[in-house]
Amino acid sequence: MPVSAPTEEVTLSAECTLARQPDYLDLHADCRQTEDVPMPHARGILLVHRCRCTCHRRGGDPA
Ligand SMILES: [Zn+2]
Ligand SMILES: [Zn+2]
Repeated sequence: MPVSAPTEEVTLSAECTLARQPDYLDLHADCRQTEDVPMPHARGILLVHRCRCTCHRRGGDPA
């Protein structure tokens, strides 16, 4: 049973989604989607969710 299996929705950028495939690992470095982008004139609504790929996490134990 996998330890890291949260029920929260996982939002990945296009780059990191591709980078999950072995042939595209380098694309993790191209992901710039590390912050939430709010929609203009619409408070509380996010235009872009930040990428939740594990490659952006810091301070955790190296797998
Ligand atoms: Zn990534
Ligand atoms: Zn990413």
